[in-house]
Amino acid sequence: MSSTGYSISKTSFLKFEQCNKAFFLYKTHPYLRDKLSKDKQLTFKRGHDVGFFAQQLFPGGRDVSKETKSSLQAAALTLTLIQEKLPVIYEATFLFNGVLIMADMLCLDNGKYTAYEVKSSIKISETYLKDAYLQYYVLKNSLVEFDDLYLVTLNSDYILDTEIEAKKLFKKRSVKLKAEENFPYFDHKIKEAHFLLEQNIIPNIGIGKQCFRPYQCDFFGNCWKETISEKSIFNMPFLDKGLLFEWFHMGTKHIDQLTDELLEKDLLIRVRNSFLNQKAIVQKEKIIRFLSDIKHPVAAMDMEIWSPAIPQLNGTKPFEQIPFLVCVFEGEKSSSFFIGNANDQRIEFAHQLIALTKHFASILVYDKTMEINAINNLLNLAPELRLELDALKSKMKDVFDVFLNLDYYHPGFKSNFSLKVVASTLLPEINYSVIGSGLEAMNYYDQYRLADNDLEKERIKAELIDYCNTDSEATFKIVDFLQKLVK
Ligand code: SF4
Repeated sequence: MSSTGYSISKTSFLKFEQCNKAFFLYKTHPYLRDKLSKDKQLTFKRGHDVGFFAQQLFPGGRDVSKETKSSLQAAALTLTLIQEKLPVIYEATFLFNGVLIMADMLCLDNGKYTAYEVKSSIKISETYLKDAYLQYYVLKNSLVEFDDLYLVTLNSDYILDTEIEAKKLFKKRSVKLKAEENFPYFDHKIKEAHFLLEQNIIPNIGIGKQCFRPYQCDFFGNCWKETISEKSIFNMPFLDKGLLFEWFHMGTKHIDQLTDELLEKDLLIRVRNSFLNQKAIVQKEKIIRFLSDIKHPVAAMDMEIWSPAIPQLNGTKPFEQIPFLVCVFEGEKSSSFFIGNANDQRIEFAHQLIALTKHFASILVYDKTMEINAINNLLNLAPELRLELDALKSKMKDVFDVFLNLDYYHPGFKSNFSLKVVASTLLPEINYSVIGSGLEAMNYYDQYRLADNDLEKERIKAELIDYCNTDSEATFKIVDFLQKLVK
């Protein structure tokens, strides 16, 4: 513990690296943090679930966090378990130089302890490495019998075959070499972080690119509340953040200060005018061209994808994108297909997808990337359906393009052209009920598969179909809106 009484956790150290002010606020004014979004909560939950599953690599350990109430108690219990030479310890806690770390797994082998840090990811990011190097620094300085730390990630080549084999599902990478090179860096940075806390003054740091790198900062709401007004230049689409910050720090903070010379491009000048006049940009010719490419009969389609970190279906890999629901909306009527069976029904899904869409000459989608990926995966699985699935791909018309190309722009979009934002701006009749994002839908599907009560399953299925239907209805009605606009 430092002289200020604060210890620095891995999370707070990474905040220090991102922004000194974020670190200081996190330690001293935590109540100013933004509320955790549902998507972030779900990402944390997934990380926790994968970490728990990875304990199967070294089963039978004692979880220090479950037996203690404070980090100091956890560190004391860890020490006792090490003195007793316990072979496997989960959440082993150490404190060195005022830095507190919890190693996911600590395992004894030939009289030496090795730590394992689990990440629910296929790739190793710079942030993961820094986090691992800091853990290594603390472990090496607090544990005589420490040997190495491995970053454990999901193996993208692993294919599930009947039963999951934890040893094949995960792969590991030693950080020893690089971590030891970083010791002087951590000595220096940790001293700086403690000094900052001793000063007890909120660092005078203005908003900047650091607010988004490597993640959007938790204190965004606090620091940006005066900047994010309706007139803020940060609402302008297609402008590089670096350039916006340059202008902002030179005093150009509001859209009405953006001159033609600064914006240069004609389309950006039109966007600025759209904000100032609160009038949409309508590039009639371009919209007509898009609409004339739509053939009748037409329907809108949306798919929901399940992408479990730990494969659940035979023949699938970690994070493989598996479609589980498709909804097709054709004006008054909608139809859907939902995979309710616990087994692999992807080929049945491909057949149903073809059956639901084959009568239509055009299929409207909003941002087709995910749908195209899903169809390509189905093609790999059922090459005999190539003709039908290729035909479906060629019928797809991406409504997102109209907004991305600024054929239509409403100042209410600001710089966000997602279906939810476009629909809520243009179609007041569209309402999403419980589920608010694709990630939430995925979590609902997880719950569906785990539920053991038929009524509960039906309730979750109805919510999912309602969400997917709303997306396809919104896509259909946006095209309707565009048609009326150019009539
Ligand atoms: S929002 Fe930006 S300036 Fe404020 S604490 Fe976070 S990173 Fe620092």
